[in-house]
Amino acid sequence: MEKVLIIDDSPTQADLLRTILEKDYAITVAHTSEEGLRRAEDGDLSLILLDVVMPGMDGFALLKKLREEAVTRYTPVILITSLSDLESEERGLALGAVDYIRKPFRDAIIRARVNTHIKLYRYRIQVERLAMVDQLTGVANRRRYDMCCRTKWQDAARLKVPISLCMFDIDHFKVYNDTFGHPAGDRVISEVAQTVNKLFRRNTDFFARYGGEEFVAILLGNDSRSAYKHIRNIRRAVEGRKIPHNPEVSPWVTVSIGGVTVIPKSDDSYDTYLQIADTMLYDAKRFGRNQVVWSNEHMEQLREH
Ligand code: GH3
Ligand code: MG
Ligand code: MG
Repeated sequence: MEKVLIIDDSPTQADLLRTILEKDYAITVAHTSEEGLRRAEDGDLSLILLDVVMPGMDGFALLKKLREEAVTRYTPVILITSLSDLESEERGLALGAVDYIRKPFRDAIIRARVNTHIKLYRYRIQVERLAMVDQLTGVANRRRYDMCCRTKWQDAARLKVPISLCMFDIDHFKVYNDTFGHPAGDRVISEVAQTVNKLFRRNTDFFARYGGEEFVAILLGNDSRSAYKHIRNIRRAVEGRKIPHNPEVSPWVTVSIGGVTVIPKSDDSYDTYLQIADTMLYDAKRFGRNQVVWSNEHMEQLREH
């Protein structure tokens, strides 16, 4: 059941709203803005009904706070008020309320508006989720990667922890397509993606399809040797799937991987290090494919053969 939070200092009013909605939604009630904010921050709400006039922090102030918090930023808020002046209405909408209901209200109108906004919210979440996922493989897509890579880089710089940037590329994939056909190629891309994705278990790990038969990963906290070893195990896991390739180029489908580990300093740029990871990938291809080539921040290479 979708969760709805009612924030209203009047118990009578809150009960009235609860009665109207409790058949369709799981209702929580808060009687002050402060309590409402705490409940909202617990997350997972589909909608908030917010009374504007309350002692202490009023509805406008709370709405402003809700819009600033990451967890509640997109939760729809409907303001409820007896203030009939247009100025309050304008102010509430400008602060990001999705709708505005005046007291006294009709049950059917409350129900209809809540239903509509929850439907829209659900739709928005679904679209956003789809927009971040690669359709073929189900792993994060390029868009999601573009949105999070710089944040991760800044996190590493601020926390002074090592970050590893890593590029994967399936070996001789053009030959694979030419031999087995494009649909079979698609299945291989997907299988490689699943295999690799499962091995990034920490919630600080990030893995995405960069495009075509190329993937990108970001690790936080590992020093260069431990990152290199982990990625080497992942490379071995892909080889270990024993997906038959064209024997003229390779018995199995394999990947080449390039990466770099660095503790970013303030004048370091993300793009410079991504370029280094790409150069390491190029070296992995040059040295014979199916291998990992890694660089630490002193540009010393770690490699398999
Ligand atoms: P290398 O070992 O040097 O990486 O050789 P390669 O053949 O993999 O390299 P190249 O980058 O020349 O070719 C990549 C191929 O991947 C070309 C393209 O047909 C194929 N490819 C890219 N995207 C997809 C996709 O979504 N599905 C399929 N089936 N093939 C794709
Ligand atoms: Mg490629
Ligand atoms: Mg390739």
